[in-house]
Amino acid sequence: MRLVLVGPPGAGKGTQAQYIASNLSIPKISTGDIFRANVSGGTDLGKLAKTYMDRGDLVPDEVTIAMVRDRLSEDDAQDGFLLDGFPRNVAQAEILRDMLKDWGQELDLVLELVVDDDEVVRRLAGRRTCSQCGRIWHVEFDDKKDDKCDACGGALFQRDDDKEETVRHRLEVYQEQTAPLVSYYADEDILVGVDATGPVEEVTQRAMDAIRPFMG
Ligand code: ADP
Ligand code: ADP
Repeated sequence: MRLVLVGPPGAGKGTQAQYIASNLSIPKISTGDIFRANVSGGTDLGKLAKTYMDRGDLVPDEVTIAMVRDRLSEDDAQDGFLLDGFPRNVAQAEILRDMLKDWGQELDLVLELVVDDDEVVRRLAGRRTCSQCGRIWHVEFDDKKDDKCDACGGALFQRDDDKEETVRHRLEVYQEQTAPLVSYYADEDILVGVDATGPVEEVTQRAMDAIRPFMG
């Protein structure tokens, strides 16, 4: 199964990607996570990406695509993958299509997580990430009174780009650059919209129901 998740920042892509990828036994490939790991590791890629991420802008396509190409070439991605946060504009989508074609592969399905702007802002304002295992929590919805991860005990942190100013800009970037992917993939007949409101488990159920008909 070769899957892509699209949706605005805060829609729940990372949260759902954890469960969907584990249900389908495919690797979850999150470009945001890979960039953040490079930022923490102080690599050249991380230094470059950080200047864009701090502003809420997209990292240049050239850099992002090279990184995804490397990741998709690894052994564990040969029989399927779940992309979270890539592609993020039509140019990336076109290159992904060509890259997969060269390898005799194609996308099976693109899931669009649908939530309104107010909910997105609430979700981003309360988002916390575990510095140890990377799990995603929410201060209000997960009732996080302490700053510890329930899964591994690691310290939780708030992402720099989840500050209000940056969030507003990221939502604009989504509307301008990423939202056009919805009609792009609808034209290719591989887009399915999923209502991403309500409890996390219910959204996962809806996503799995949408995926099942596309499984080989
Ligand atoms: P969110 O989950 O809130 O949508 P991500 O973790 O996916 O955010 O991405 C964080 C940041 O990483 C983005 O704002 C952008 O700067 C960079 N980034 C992630 N994926 C891409 C991509 N496909 N193309 C360009 N930049 C990206
Ligand atoms: P994205 O990767 O699309 O930016 P995340 O998966 O990081 O989104 O989720 C953003 C925030 O919303 C996190 O704090 C997460 O715990 C919370 N969240 C995700 N799904 C739901 C849901 N169904 N209901 C309430 N909160 C959610």
